[in-house]
Amino acid sequence: MSDNAAKKLSIDLEECIGCGSCAEICPDVFAVTEDAKAYIIAHDKCDTCDCEEAAEICPTKAILLE
Ligand code: SF4
Repeated sequence: MSDNAAKKLSIDLEECIGCGSCAEICPDVFAVTEDAKAYIIAHDKCDTCDCEEAAEICPTKAILLE
């Protein structure tokens, strides 16, 4: 396995409150739907922004990054 393999990213929808912070930091990766839930647009874009920051800033810690 390469160290460059894409990080495994997921969102705990039970915890997500749809605040939109993740989509502000990583607009290529996250989007928030009208029902106020975040979803992942593109896992492989995680290299283009800072998903770790998004995971940290998430108020409910709904972003899981492995
Ligand atoms: Fe949901 Fe967290 Fe993103 Fe806010 S930052 S929309 S709570 S996943």
